[in-house]
Amino acid sequence: MSVDRSGLVQKSFEKKAQEIEIPNAKPSEYYGELIFDKKKMSKYLDKDTLQALLACIEGGRHLDRATADAVAKGMKEWALEHGVTHVTHWFQPLTEGTAEKHDSLIEYDGNGGVIETFDGRSLAQQEPDASSFPSGGIRATFEARGYTAWDPTSPVFIQEDTLCIPTVFISYTGEALDYKTPLKRSLRAVCDAALPLCQLFDSKVNKVYCYLGWEQEFFLVDESLYSARPDLTITGRTLMGHNSSKNQQLDDHYFGAIPSRVAAFLRDVEIRAHKLGIPLKTRHNEAAPNQFEIAPIYGEANLSNDQNQIVMNIMNSASRKHGFVVLFHEKPFKGVNGSGKHNNWSLGTDTGTALFAPGKDALGNLQFITFFVNVLAAVQKHNSLLKSSIVSATNADRLGGGEAPPAIVSAFLGKTMTDVLRKLLVLPSDTPIEIAGKTGTSLGLVELPEIFVDNTDRNRTSPFAFTGNRFEFRAVGSSANCGSALSTLNAAVAEQLISFKAALDVELSSGKPLNIAVMDTLKPIIASVIDVVCFDGNGYSEEWQQEAKRRGLDTQTNVPEMIKVFESEPSIKMFQTTGVYSEKEIHARNEVRWNIYSKKVQIESRVLVRMATNHIIPAVLEYKTKLLKEVALCKEVFGNTNGCTIELEMIQTISECVEQLRVRTKEMQEARARANAIESEYKKALAYYDIAQSFDGIRGPIDMLEEIVDNNIWPLPKYRELLFIS
Ligand code: ADP
Ligand code: MG
Repeated sequence: MSVDRSGLVQKSFEKKAQEIEIPNAKPSEYYGELIFDKKKMSKYLDKDTLQALLACIEGGRHLDRATADAVAKGMKEWALEHGVTHVTHWFQPLTEGTAEKHDSLIEYDGNGGVIETFDGRSLAQQEPDASSFPSGGIRATFEARGYTAWDPTSPVFIQEDTLCIPTVFISYTGEALDYKTPLKRSLRAVCDAALPLCQLFDSKVNKVYCYLGWEQEFFLVDESLYSARPDLTITGRTLMGHNSSKNQQLDDHYFGAIPSRVAAFLRDVEIRAHKLGIPLKTRHNEAAPNQFEIAPIYGEANLSNDQNQIVMNIMNSASRKHGFVVLFHEKPFKGVNGSGKHNNWSLGTDTGTALFAPGKDALGNLQFITFFVNVLAAVQKHNSLLKSSIVSATNADRLGGGEAPPAIVSAFLGKTMTDVLRKLLVLPSDTPIEIAGKTGTSLGLVELPEIFVDNTDRNRTSPFAFTGNRFEFRAVGSSANCGSALSTLNAAVAEQLISFKAALDVELSSGKPLNIAVMDTLKPIIASVIDVVCFDGNGYSEEWQQEAKRRGLDTQTNVPEMIKVFESEPSIKMFQTTGVYSEKEIHARNEVRWNIYSKKVQIESRVLVRMATNHIIPAVLEYKTKLLKEVALCKEVFGNTNGCTIELEMIQTISECVEQLRVRTKEMQEARARANAIESEYKKALAYYDIAQSFDGIRGPIDMLEEIVDNNIWPLPKYRELLFIS
């Protein structure tokens, strides 16, 4: 019954770094080869079509049918040259990952044969039978229609034999059923809200952009070992497993040399990504054994998020080729670090000003401080909601888990910026803000050293950290679609900027000059954020839990309750004012999230119980029988069991653990039955939350058994094998 562990391990050790096809060219020569970018547009589209399309992409103009037809014609020509046979609308439903339904390009030609066709209608819109995608009741199953519509701001790309068209996914009545639609709405909201403020500082600004640079963390597990772990294959994480004697305590993995098989895999991913115009830049080992990170050069947020989804897909498929499976789960292993996806987020103008970086002069610095402080105010007001935007069944296992941010959203500024804010509070409002090293320190007002970027301390315990020219939203989970977190962050910041601008206008209308009006409006906000949301200390400490509560920050750890915040009154109001979600969409999304939460815990609970029953108990009883036979033999030979202390002790422990498993698995099954009978998604999720809290009661005895049972009999690959073979 047991798997041949030593055989599996042997097989894994024999796996060599896979040969990969390395292009006979520099990345700059094949970069973007498989996307329909401006270069391809100029080549395959006539001038008028090109202009009309660029007006859609850059000016947000509507795409008319004639243009769509002309674009499709050019795209088809390009695609056929690359051996494309199929086309798909590629979208990001509320499940994990992306969805695609491939259609072949063939149509009857009227003469008994077929020809390849692709027109503007197929490019612009599709009606996938979408009844099985989560919609939270927006689209009843009998009204199966959902629409996908082309997002021309993200380039069409080729994967294998398929032309992939990035699209939004909406219901028949226009509600968003995906992550992209609200993200795009939120980008418009935050950029529109930032623009009039920027124009006060620089009249030449015409547009504001929002940028995202994600850092994707993940684990790699040897494929053959993975296949022997039902928990990994079904839930993406281990539900049991005793700590390896060595894990990450020596800190010898972080930034260490990348193992050759892993390096080959990463190289493969990079080449594929570069061909798709995805600027992957960084790769390194992470803190835990077999944990790694990759990151691109940041880009426009909607595009960068699409690229993250594409890269995750590429990693899934490429890992198999190299004999690995990639784990995006936030907490695949107990006792070692989990994986996150830090979202480096910033705003910038079309004139090249980074709004979260110090400026060139006093006015530029004032603009920087204005945006900086307003972001903090937004994070403060919606700290609870931001937490809601990143929580999931899987990320909940990571949050607060030693290395990851705690389940409290606060902002880390670093000493320099904290001092800056404190000084601004006490100085007269007309004091020009100067930056040391650039305009001298004579006034000694604001010391921002030249090594400013490096000077922002790397406080890993903070969920939202200022890192010199951007904010890093670190609480986002590794498996998440960044869209959820960013839609909320953008909307919250947009709302704050709108209210700040209104308050500022009042000051300005009283005749104050801009710098004084801005500082007068900012000061009470600065005083408040310093007291409440800004925290540079140790986020893991017990004192912080107490302190955060005292400050009125949300310290809730119950997942279904965290989700509920999304439909709280301030949240609905904020999303409505900014046009990011309608109230109907908010409620629908919560139904979906509770439902997914319950299902995930239900699946994990089933796997846990079945593994206990079908894998662990039989193996352990086999070992117990062996021990009993030894004791019996001893008695037969010596007439007593005096020499059998260890056997008897082990038999005792095994019996106790197995009894605990018998009782607790039964209790868990009963709890599931009760939970399943609950109608309301919210209440059902609460019941499943309680079930999730009792996993350790089953895992505990199993992990104890793993420690005493014969290594050759243990039926599952162990942590030391899963984590150290690469
Ligand atoms: P870390 O040291 O935090 O791990 P990485 O180099 O791994 O940093 O990742 C930093 C990410 O932040 C990269 O994707 C980078 O392009 C991105 N980034 C840098 N500057 C900005 C910015 N102004 N706005 C958004 N993202 C940025
Ligand atoms: Mg990094």
